[in-house]
Amino acid sequence: MTGTIDREALREKYRAERDKRLRPDGNAQYIEPKGRFAHFLDDPYVERVEREPLHDEVTVAIIGGGFAGLVTGARLVQAGVTDVRIIEGGGDVGGAWYWNRYPGAMCDTAAMVYLPLLEETGHVPTMKYVLAPEIYGHARRIATTFGLYDNALFSTAVTSLDWDEASSRWIISTARGDRIRARFVSMGLGPLHRPKLPGIEGIDSFGGHCFHTSRWDYAYTGGSYEGAPMTGLADKRVGIIGTGATAVQYIPHLGRAAKELYVFQRTPSSIDVRNNHAIDREMVESFEPGWQQRWLMNFVTLQTGGFTDEDLVMDGWTDITKRIRDRMIAQMGTNGLGPEAMLKAYEESDDEKMEEIRARVDAVVADPATAEALKPWYRQLCKRPCFHDEYLDTFNRSSVHLVDTDGRGVERIDETGVWVGGRHVELDCIVFASGFEVGTSYSRRAGFETAGRDGELLSEHWAEGMHTKHGIHVHGFPNLFLVAPNQGANLISNVTHNYVEQGATIAAVVAHALEVGAEQVEVTAEAEQAWVRLLEGSVRAFMGSPDCTPGYYNNEGQPVGRKERLNGSGYPEGPVAYFRYIDEWRSSGEFEGLEFR
Ligand code: NDP
Repeated sequence: MTGTIDREALREKYRAERDKRLRPDGNAQYIEPKGRFAHFLDDPYVERVEREPLHDEVTVAIIGGGFAGLVTGARLVQAGVTDVRIIEGGGDVGGAWYWNRYPGAMCDTAAMVYLPLLEETGHVPTMKYVLAPEIYGHARRIATTFGLYDNALFSTAVTSLDWDEASSRWIISTARGDRIRARFVSMGLGPLHRPKLPGIEGIDSFGGHCFHTSRWDYAYTGGSYEGAPMTGLADKRVGIIGTGATAVQYIPHLGRAAKELYVFQRTPSSIDVRNNHAIDREMVESFEPGWQQRWLMNFVTLQTGGFTDEDLVMDGWTDITKRIRDRMIAQMGTNGLGPEAMLKAYEESDDEKMEEIRARVDAVVADPATAEALKPWYRQLCKRPCFHDEYLDTFNRSSVHLVDTDGRGVERIDETGVWVGGRHVELDCIVFASGFEVGTSYSRRAGFETAGRDGELLSEHWAEGMHTKHGIHVHGFPNLFLVAPNQGANLISNVTHNYVEQGATIAAVVAHALEVGAEQVEVTAEAEQAWVRLLEGSVRAFMGSPDCTPGYYNNEGQPVGRKERLNGSGYPEGPVAYFRYIDEWRSSGEFEGLEFR
């Protein structure tokens, strides 16, 4: 197949498609849900229950009850630290999986590696890729198994986090008037909980119904999160703005339910094969203890171009990197393995993959013009790769209409519908699948400021980009720990693997501080600087290349400076090396770079 690709023409096409989409406003094209849309941030899943404000103290407060917080809580409990309190804005644990209940929601990463602590909780995933209710259920299972519900506060938004040097405690203020003192605080805030909206002209004027995918309105659509059909849409003309990973999963469901469905597309997603199947429970139960750790390391090794005897997960993620790796090896003989040969191998395997993805569109979508419009013209990792076996076929339904905007996006919204290229489409309902705050500042995403020693704000400390050690510790912010992939392993294909390791590290540090009676634990300024220098020496920052079509992977096509590179950076030798390194770092008991006072 590769022999038939005209690479120069392909590069030219990619450039032309990118240029159409570049826009000067970058991230500023998106707006926060305010005013008419303020209720998009409300919690539709629980009734608010009034309670008295709390003025008490806990050993560890965990802000955020998603997998980052849950796994850290579990590791703390395992380390003997049981006075732990999760503080969460949603009505339950689950984080992104609490909020996102759109029809068809599922995880694109195989459940055997994505669902954390499977052995500890005794759960065996039902399918290779599981649906959102099972993932949410698993989050609840972790909370139950480790007793994390007992002391948790839900529907409680943190409004500020302030360090009190005199007492060596953090003071957590919340929207419910709580003032909670905590000896240690762990923050796992995640990027996928604050919805953003496209700043399309007239968005405020739409007179029909509208909602964002992260708060699916089943009261309007009918049906349920568990899969009941959306009968409320049988007489509705529904429009969708956005065709990213979220939309790809729910469009097949809306295609079945809506009288007419209009999909407004700015950039098509790449849709690779899903190939889901049931997991053999007996087989999993026969595995030797420690199997999940082996699967995790097997997946991350293959996903980052390494070698293993077998591919345990075997999916689109490992396929991408195995192809690149194998091509590099094949070219070693002819071109050597210098940086140029590596780039060439990467480019060639990417071209081959994308040709396959485009050929699949032709094979599935009957109407040639629709098929043409659904083809992605960029390198696969420029945007979040998608995997689905029903998405493309949905466009063969006579009631489903692809409205391609040729990279320009929806032009205008008015009281009765949407304008694209001078054409008006009348709609009863608009679903915004326009994504989440990913590229904006930490405090905007968190919704509160964190003030460390001498009142220094975390947002100020990071004005020139994230500065941490391991992505966990920040100088000037004692007894505070962050749980996120950035500046650690930075493994994007399986985010929970980052959390499992960061959680274990935090638990080891807290247990040690308690054991030695330290009131404060803090990374030294030198150790933080050394880590940042190490990261800066790396080319591994997770930022799509500048010739990519814009998206949140590449700062929406805006220049990527030191700050963006730092924010998206990871351990120079890659995730596998990071996981080995951090295991040794915490197991040695020396905690190099930290001061226990
Ligand atoms: P995205 O940010 O990926 O997608 C937003 C979509 O809105 C894009 O298609 C964008 O087009 C489109 N858009 C924005 N403005 C306009 C406009 N003016 N007119 C028309 N279209 C517009 O959000 P998602 O919610 O889809 O996904 C967010 C992330 O959530 C994913 O990247 C992934 O990390 C995660 N996710 C993970 C899943 C999993 O399996 N683990 C499942 C689902 C989501 P354009 O591409 O041109 O910018």
